[in-house]
Formats: sequence, structure tokens, C-alpha cells
Amino acid sequence: MIAAADFNITKVERSKLNDINLENIPFGKYFTDHMLEVDYEDGEWKTPEIKPYQPLLMEPSLAAIHYGQAIFEGIKAYKNPQGEPYIFRPADNFSRFNISAERMQMPQVPEHIFMEGMKLLIEMDSNWIPNKEDHALYIRPFMFSTDEMIGVRPSEKYKFMIILSPTGPYYSAPMRIYVEEQYVRAVPGGIGYAKAAGNYGAAMFATAEAKKKGYDQVLWTDAYEHKYVQECGTMNVFFIIGNTAITPDLEAGTILAGVTRDSVIVLLKEMGFNVEERPLSIDDVIDAHKAGLLYEVFGTGTAATISMIKELRYKDYVMEFDTNAWKTAPEIKSRLNDIRYGKREDTHGWMVKA
Ligand SMILES: *Cc1c(COP(=O)(O)O)cnc(C)c1O
Repeated sequence: MIAAADFNITKVERSKLNDINLENIPFGKYFTDHMLEVDYEDGEWKTPEIKPYQPLLMEPSLAAIHYGQAIFEGIKAYKNPQGEPYIFRPADNFSRFNISAERMQMPQVPEHIFMEGMKLLIEMDSNWIPNKEDHALYIRPFMFSTDEMIGVRPSEKYKFMIILSPTGPYYSAPMRIYVEEQYVRAVPGGIGYAKAAGNYGAAMFATAEAKKKGYDQVLWTDAYEHKYVQECGTMNVFFIIGNTAITPDLEAGTILAGVTRDSVIVLLKEMGFNVEERPLSIDDVIDAHKAGLLYEVFGTGTAATISMIKELRYKDYVMEFDTNAWKTAPEIKSRLNDIRYGKREDTHGWMVKA
């Protein structure tokens, strides 16, 4: 295990926390006192620094800005009833981060920098974890290329950082979803399974078009036939059909392997559902709806946990749901939250002490 001595630590003189009320704060707007920063040069990671949160000074030729070698993660830390900080499944995010790095031809980040650095940072800024129901500390690790040279090639230099943002309840109203048939998010052989910055930029146009039509998000379909469902915006998607929960499988590499997705699969099984990870066509979804068997449709992700879908539109076929009558999505959300806030036994070892 790495000791604090392996990090260069500079503390703030005065915490910004004195000026901020941690109740009901918007997602991703405020950042804590400190950040982690470490540079990769000459084939190795330098000594990580934890220092006051501050702007970066960059050359306009910075490679990441031009060619998009940039990846990130999203994790949350919570306080249990005793006020102790715990992180939800960070090892899964760490391994996914390095899978993204490999796909983007970026160096692997060592476990001690990612995990111990994150814990140290959280320990230093633990006062920033709101001690309130539905509040959490959002953890954003990221890496980008830092060569200062214009030329398309993998960078030789990189920067890995972690910043922390306290968040209030991320209420996500039931969504209206448009099944996308023109634009695509991910193709087999592409980077859909990587949490790479470009995936999000590439999705914004289609999302904006759907918003113009009055929808909150798109449900992505496969690139070849626009037939098989993939993900809902930046969330994985689940369909409850009869006593079976179906979510698209990860085989084609077009879907981001969500940590929430994996957790929801485990909880659904505990609740007695058959869970199928398999290709699911929009036609099958519509058939289930016509047969009265499509009970619930919801998205899963770290930010909102579970987002219920109240309307799903495919061409001219509109499926509407009374989400107030749903049992499954709310039950999963409360089970997951109870584990996170230390109110329900963590039988899977998901919570890691910061
Ligand atoms: C981050 C993300 C998810 C959800 O992953 P979690 O680990 O559950 O937060 C799903 N889809 C996409 C495209 C994502 O970027």
C-alpha cells in the first residue's frame, strides 16, 4: 500500500467550504478544495501531487484538444450513518478506466495512484461529502494527452487527475425517450465501450434533435439495422417484460459496461427476476407492449442511479407508462441507496472505506 508520503501534498490555507451551503447543490458545479494531478513523461508516472483546486496552464497546441485522447470516470462517495466516507465499487471504475485507456492508446494508470490517490483526496476533503439523504460526493478521475505539438499520433505525455464535486439529490424526472434511427452512438469495432470524451461530443447533435421534438433523450439503436437497442443517452437501459428483466449484452463492444448496470443485475436477481443480457430488438419491445407485458423501462447510471422512462416513441408508435404505479425501479433504487448510505447490509462488498 502506498503511503501519503508517496504523494506531494499541499493543503489550502482556507477551505472554500466556509462559503458554500452543501444542501441541494446542483450536479457538477462546485469543486472541493483539493485535486490530484500527476504527469506521465518519458514512459513513467511522476510523483502524484494533491494540491489546491486550480486552473491548468496549457499550450494551445495541447494534443487532447485537437485529437481527443481523453477519457474519464464517474464514481460516488457517501457518508454512512456514523459519518464515515465510503466509495461505491471504485475498483470497477479503476479497471474500466484502464480499458478505456488501452482503447485510446493511452498509458495504464497504476492502481496505487488511482485508488490510494482517490482515498487520500477524499480523506482530505471529507468535510465536503454532504451528510444528508440523497447527497453524495461525485468523483471525476480523468486523463488526457498533453503533448504540445500538432500532428496526429499518440501523445508521449499525459496528465491524470481527480477532482471532486459535492452533489445534492439528482432528481431525474421520468423521461420521454425517442428511439433513434438516423444517428448512431457506437459501432462494433468502435469505442462505445470506452468512457472516452469524444463519445459524448458525438452524441450531442442527435440528443439536441430529439429535444427539439420534445424528448429528453434518445434510445440508441445498432448502427447496421437500427433495430437492436443499445443505451439510453448516457445510461444503460433495462426492460421489465413479464417476470424477466432484459438489458442489452456487452458482446459487440458498443455498450458502456456500467457499474450501476452490473449492480442492478445483481439486485434484480435477488428480487426474483430472471435477468437476460442479450440483444433486444425494438420489435420485441413493441410486441411485449402490445401484449401488455412491458411493465417498466428505465435507465441506470452513477449520476441518477435509476431514471424511469414514462414515454418511449418508435416511429409513430408511442408507448406510455404510469411510472407512479411502478414497483421494480423504485425498489431497486431504494435498495441500492440503502446499501450506499450504510442502511442495508452490504452483502456484495461494494462499499470501500475512503
Ligand atoms: C458512464 C456511462 C454509463 C453508466 O455507467 P455507470 O458506471 O453505471 O455510471 C452508461 N452509459 C454510458 C455511455 C456512460 O458513459
